[in-house]
Amino acid sequence: MTAKYLSVAEYNLLPNVKEYLSKELKNCIGGKWQSAVSGETFEKKDPATNEVVAHASKSGIADVDMAVTAARRAFDNSPWKKITGAERQDILLRFADLIDKNREELCQIECLDLGRPATDPGHCMMGINFAKYYAGLATKISGETLTPMTLLPHVDQVFSYTLRQPVGVVAAVIPWNAPMPMFVSKVAPAIATGCTMVIKPASDTPLIAGRLMELLQEAGVPDGVVNLIQGPGGVAGSRLVSDPRINKITFTGSTEVGKSIAKAAMENLTRISLELGGKSPSIIFDDADMKSAPFEASLCVFMNCGQICVAGSRLFIQKKRFDEVVSAIQHRAETMKIGPGMDPENEMGPLINASQKAKVLQYMQKGIDSGARLVTGGKGIDRPGNFVKPTIFVDVDKKAAIYREEIFGPVLIATPFNDLEDLITEANDTNYGLAANIWTKDLNNAIKTAAAVNAGMITINGATLPPDPNLPFGGFKQSGIGRENGKSAIDYHTEVKTVSIVM
Ligand code: NAD
Repeated sequence: MTAKYLSVAEYNLLPNVKEYLSKELKNCIGGKWQSAVSGETFEKKDPATNEVVAHASKSGIADVDMAVTAARRAFDNSPWKKITGAERQDILLRFADLIDKNREELCQIECLDLGRPATDPGHCMMGINFAKYYAGLATKISGETLTPMTLLPHVDQVFSYTLRQPVGVVAAVIPWNAPMPMFVSKVAPAIATGCTMVIKPASDTPLIAGRLMELLQEAGVPDGVVNLIQGPGGVAGSRLVSDPRINKITFTGSTEVGKSIAKAAMENLTRISLELGGKSPSIIFDDADMKSAPFEASLCVFMNCGQICVAGSRLFIQKKRFDEVVSAIQHRAETMKIGPGMDPENEMGPLINASQKAKVLQYMQKGIDSGARLVTGGKGIDRPGNFVKPTIFVDVDKKAAIYREEIFGPVLIATPFNDLEDLITEANDTNYGLAANIWTKDLNNAIKTAAAVNAGMITINGATLPPDPNLPFGGFKQSGIGRENGKSAIDYHTEVKTVSIVM
């Protein structure tokens, strides 16, 4: 008997989602929705079935250039410059409300984009929070008053102050693994600070970006302030980040592409922040709460089918509890409900596309070939779509690719450790430094470990927290440059001007 799998036609899609998918996903340039100049489009496939669900404009150089021109014009010569912080705040608050009102629809669209469960409102909540947080900051951007240290002999007094002015046109290039919160977290600080921007979503996830752009327009973003470009990274993305008219680049994606973007940015000395990949350690000490720690550690690597930059993909377990923790996570891996995000029963969805599935399967095979012991998983799931089994390896050689490289799939490497010293050396033995998770009941131990692990975000006694607008986000080493979110995003989107009045 052959199993029956849901097809896209059988999804319980809302009527407006169906209608949205039936139209070309166009670029939005200067407030106008338009196809690529070439007229070309590319296919968007549902990750759970690999059926084509929509077509998006395949932007080329001419489209990107038009978008930058529109953003430049909106920054240099339009009423946007005179808009107050309070008005920018209102736009962002209306945007937050619109995300809230359209939650169900947005969750369905993001599920078709990425494959994550459509009933999980987490990404919508993040989007709402980012919009509200930066709405609040839009009215709180200010400089300082300062007293210079020296006075020239003929001068009585100098009064100095700093102005924080919008940096100008921002280019945002974003990945596919969290397309809704990523879009909002890039757009919100740019609007809050009075910048204009061009945003390019990943070509694997063009759906949600188009709908969020429509909501931004409904929220009252003036034409040209936010411009959306759909299309391939190698053409549209690289043209965008090389344009000397761009004042600031914010990039989230792989370390490899991040490095190439950094080189392009340096050519024009464009300001840049980079949020890149990771190979983060999860650390379970002997005294951890064993009722929760293994489950939470499993979430850190199996959530979003492992497609999370902060994935705790290297799990270090103190020796005495090693077997117990591994078997608890094995049980979880073998009992998780896996299937399309449109079915509310499922806990884990598919990988984004067929080539990501092939890449993850290749890593699993490399792990087996390297002599590592496969505890569970290690293969794909024989059904339509890009599903793979949650996988655990132990006895892994420290030089093996699965130990060192970011896999971006549900693959966990578990390694025992003796003591803190031994652990820190191993946890830090990586080119990355994005996140870490620590489970222990000993407060001193937690504080010492958090201080010693080289990572930008550390969670103690819990699975990694989702990106929070008020918490700085970014990594050490090859996990990026700078910290996004929080108030530092305001610094990144503004230039400081020092003004001195000589009296
Ligand atoms: P990617 O680097 O392949 O693509 C990211 C974006 O860059 C896409 O929009 C893509 O079209 C564009 N792009 C590709 N080549 C380009 C080029 N030459 N010039 C300009 N733009 C180009 O990454 P991905 O596969 O979409 O996402 C997964 C990666 O993102 C993982 O490495 C993950 O760790 C990382 N990530 C990091 C964070 C973080 O905050 N640190 C968050 C999410 C994802």
